[in-house]
Amino acid sequence: MTELATPPTEQDREIHRISHWIGGRTVAGESGRSGLVFNPASGQQSGAVDFASVDEVDRAVRTAREAFPAWRSVSLSKRTAILFEIRELVHQRREEIARFLTAEHGKVLSDALGEVARGLEVIEYCCGIPELLKGGFSEQASTGIDVYSIRQPLGVVAGITPFNFPAMVPMWMWAPALACGNTFVLKPSEKDPSASIFTAQLLKEAGVPDGVFNVVHGDKVAVDSLLEHPDVAAISFVGSTPIAKYVYEHATASGKRCQALGGAKNHMIVLPDADIDMAADAAVSAGYGSAGERCMAVSMIVAVGGVADELVAAIRERIPKVRVGDGLHPDSEMGPLITREHRDKVASYVDAAPDEGATVVVDGRADAPEGEGFFLAPSLLDHVRPGTKAYDDEIFGPVLGITRVDTYEEAVRLVNESPYGNGTAIFTRDGGVARQFQFDAQAGMVGINVPIPVPVAYYSFGGWKNSLFGDRHIYGPEGVEFYTRGKVVTSRWPDPATSKVDLGFPQTR
Ligand code: NAD
Repeated sequence: MTELATPPTEQDREIHRISHWIGGRTVAGESGRSGLVFNPASGQQSGAVDFASVDEVDRAVRTAREAFPAWRSVSLSKRTAILFEIRELVHQRREEIARFLTAEHGKVLSDALGEVARGLEVIEYCCGIPELLKGGFSEQASTGIDVYSIRQPLGVVAGITPFNFPAMVPMWMWAPALACGNTFVLKPSEKDPSASIFTAQLLKEAGVPDGVFNVVHGDKVAVDSLLEHPDVAAISFVGSTPIAKYVYEHATASGKRCQALGGAKNHMIVLPDADIDMAADAAVSAGYGSAGERCMAVSMIVAVGGVADELVAAIRERIPKVRVGDGLHPDSEMGPLITREHRDKVASYVDAAPDEGATVVVDGRADAPEGEGFFLAPSLLDHVRPGTKAYDDEIFGPVLGITRVDTYEEAVRLVNESPYGNGTAIFTRDGGVARQFQFDAQAGMVGINVPIPVPVAYYSFGGWKNSLFGDRHIYGPEGVEFYTRGKVVTSRWPDPATSKVDLGFPQTR
């Protein structure tokens, strides 16, 4: 097995330099600009990441463009063999990938392994690419004429990804993009960039030709260069809503195909007939898992009828048992937040809650582990009302809010009035109401007694409203459609004996 970069350990205090990956090798940045990478559990700087200039992005795109003709010509069976090899290597090296995630993002190791596992499922789906790319065929559509459809890759496609899933979200993009025959430029989050370079090394080892997969690090300069580059055919983006909207508007204005997934504020409705223990377990797991830094996290519980007091008590009872600590420690269940600034911003929602009329039932500011790490323990706010910041904003941290309503209809109205529409869930024992909710809810992903309804890899992931700009969800069948263009061929192999000149309009016969 090839020697790859080693993930940092608890003892590792060395500052790593994280550079670009272009044409199958590490390329040191020359822009003179870089960003700091932290270990959120210690609060110490662990790395420095090069920020690409316009020229460096151009170099990566040109490299990908040059690699495209050969890669799109690789047979489906050979591409499938490479995908199986990628699957094998990612599976074998999952622990190392997970350690990179914990070291730079902060999430606990078990959660990081879960992230890699969900990404692997997308790679496994892509191993079926020959089946996924099969077109239709109509024999004798007209006399002696057959019609068939094929799907072809777009060319160079780019992915711009958020900090909260540094391995899985890129896999949602590059796996189907490469499987479909495109070449790829990834611009990962500058906050936790190392996993993307480790992935690039694995892809090379798996047999992906140089230039097919490239990574440029950076900030707005790199993103804008990709959005404006004439040789980039499509952009996949996952991140916050304002940037998603910006990316979608600019990418489409420069003629690119674009899918831009944005932020969320996911409501979980609990009806009076729900199993309260199950709902409380789900609320705590989905609200505080990964420190609430998931776009599918439950952030608002809508307690219907008389269920609220019992539910609040059940959640409050569970919160002190959540073990907050360094993600590398085997006992930890919840790690720190991504940066000091973000931790302070999340805490400010708890600061403001009483003035907004909410009750602080559990105050995570008081219980955070000591030290320089960016920790904040779980907080629970009750009586949170629409129109307040705690209700309206995507807090993206371990702050769970409860809002109280009298009826199912009011609860659904809250879900549907949200400007976001990523995920939503209902907890009930009533199948009829659950089915009505599935019909009523204006969101792309609905859970019935499932708090985080992330679709399996053979469906597609995506929200509605301000949670997705564009008309194709990510990965699954829609991912294959996004990364390919359809072509319909109308074909005749005439019998030379019947050939004649015919200037009339071609008609179906
Ligand atoms: P972000 O929008 O700050 O950053 C995402 C990417 O955009 C990064 O690569 C970043 O470098 C780049 N970027 C940031 N500011 C930019 C600017 N002004 N111009 C151009 N590019 C810019 O998001 P984040 O903080 O990294 O991630 C958290 C957000 O992502 C949350 O809102 C979360 O809900 C969302 N998210 C959504 C999904 C989904 O599937 N809908 C999944 C994961 C995360």
